Amino acid sequence: MSTSNWARNLTYSSSRVVRPTTLDELAETVTSSPRVRPLGTRHSFNRVADTDGVHVVVDALDDGRPAVEVDVARGTASIAAGARYGEASQALQEQGVALGAMASLPHISVAGAVATATHGSGDTTRNLAAAVRGLELVTADGAVRTLARGDTDFAGAVVGLGALGIVTRLELDVVPTYDVRQDVYLGLGWDVVAEQLDEITASATSVSLFTGWGDGVDQVWRKTAVRPGSDAVAFPAAYLGAAAATRAMHPLPGVDAAACTEQLGVAGPWNERLPHFRLAFTPSNGEELQSEYLVPRRHAVEAMAALRKIADVVRPLLQITEIRTIAADDLWMSTAFVEGVAAGEQPDPRAGFVGFHFTWLPRQREVEAVLPAIESALAPFGARPHWGKLFTDGPAELADVAGRYPRFADFAALVERYDPAGRFRGGIVDTLLAGA
Ligand SMILES: Cc1cc2nc3c(=O)[nH]c(=O)nc-3n(C[C@H](O)[C@H](O)[C@H](O)COP(=O)(O)OP(=O)(O)OC[C@H]3O[C@@H](n4cnc5c(N)ncnc54)[C@H](O)[C@@H]3O)c2cc1C
Repeated sequence: MSTSNWARNLTYSSSRVVRPTTLDELAETVTSSPRVRPLGTRHSFNRVADTDGVHVVVDALDDGRPAVEVDVARGTASIAAGARYGEASQALQEQGVALGAMASLPHISVAGAVATATHGSGDTTRNLAAAVRGLELVTADGAVRTLARGDTDFAGAVVGLGALGIVTRLELDVVPTYDVRQDVYLGLGWDVVAEQLDEITASATSVSLFTGWGDGVDQVWRKTAVRPGSDAVAFPAAYLGAAAATRAMHPLPGVDAAACTEQLGVAGPWNERLPHFRLAFTPSNGEELQSEYLVPRRHAVEAMAALRKIADVVRPLLQITEIRTIAADDLWMSTAFVEGVAAGEQPDPRAGFVGFHFTWLPRQREVEAVLPAIESALAPFGARPHWGKLFTDGPAELADVAGRYPRFADFAALVERYDPAGRFRGGIVDTLLAGA
């Protein structure tokens, strides 16, 4: 039976999906399949996870260890790769620890999110992959390999796009648990956003600006960590002309907020506030497509102006745009990679990125026809498309994208070393590496 992704905009080319329950079964599947590729919860919108061989999903894998194992003394948690962030974060919370970041949706698998550099928001918040301290993966020869932060191959392997092997476990940095309050503000003019962007994004732990590219930003979602002794930075709403929302909001105009995490300043556990959507709900039943481009932070205002110029082209297909900031990291294929950044260092917001995310109506052909306009508008800023979302992914465009990653040649060499026969190649990763 053919398998489609979450958004149902693509049917994978794989002949079958295998869900191994033991490491031996996983190794046997890998070594007996000339083409094989890991698949997570299928939330990517493009062919990043595709293969014409066998798909392997590790959500039923039992390696003899609990799905979530916390080591408080080391500040780490070992997590089964197939776990979804929602359940993993709940288990962490129950054990008194927390992650620094989560994506908007808690339903995605940890390994799939890490493999594509999935991110949340925040001037000093790195993407989810940057929390990885170690990983275990089954490589092309069926052997289990362990990599730890600081090892030679590590920074190339974490955002691996599924090309190096099947990740079975990830060790993540954790911190003592904390609460977060979420407040939504309405109506910020473009002039204020352009003049005060740095103040706005610095005003909370995580800030998202939602816009339909009309008169300005329609909603500002601020998530503030409430730690003992740390005061929330006040949002100068009156000064900026924005009004505090008096009821819970959904990012899409007019949509009921029942699927959204609690707002109106009610503090609660980090894992129930950092995602925009609750684990118990599917926000839109897959009736959407997404694209996103990350631009170095120093170009944020210019890039926003360039996008406003093509608003009339974008708007007819758009549900909503979300603008977020992401701190820089050292992972070679991360959309937020910056040469010279060190893993443990306190991130410098000025060195980070701004993400322009587009939630589209589910009209793929029309959306794909609009993407080149966005890509041309953002090309002068060296925009990097999100690996899991729709972008123009022909050979020439992927060669351009590869050129925006200073360590791409090293990544291609790493893949060649781990997988000389190209067992794990497939989909857009095949095209990307073919140009190396
Ligand atoms: C509604 C919605 C909301 C989203 N919100 C955000 C957001 O807030 N921020 C953001 O950045 N992105 C967001 N995304 C994008 C999403 O996070 C990525 O597409 C992510 O890759 C999805 O994880 P997955 O488990 O579904 O991976 P899949 O789509 O199944 O696979 C993605 C990649 O991961 C690889 N992979 C999967 N499992 C493994 C494994 N065990 N070992 C090695 N490689 C593996 C695959 O080979 C493939 O290359 C959202 C997507 C949706 C549908």
